[in-house]
Amino acid sequence: MRISSDQDVCTGAGQCVLTEPGVFAQDARGVVELRTDRAEGELMPKVRQAVFICPSGALSVEED
Ligand code: SF4
Repeated sequence: MRISSDQDVCTGAGQCVLTEPGVFAQDARGVVELRTDRAEGELMPKVRQAVFICPSGALSVEED
């Protein structure tokens, strides 16, 4: 799957990082940064969960 984030929408809640720190990080302002824009295998359910719980709707995925 391909992962996208909108840094203009992110409110810095950090829920994505808590859910999957291998994919999501935050910059010095707390805004989301992607460590990778792709996830496979066991990471995929974690990434879907992060998209679901993000309070600002800043994250999205596109299935392959
Ligand atoms: S959970 Fe959403 S709002 Fe919070 S840091 Fe991640 S992308 Fe930003």
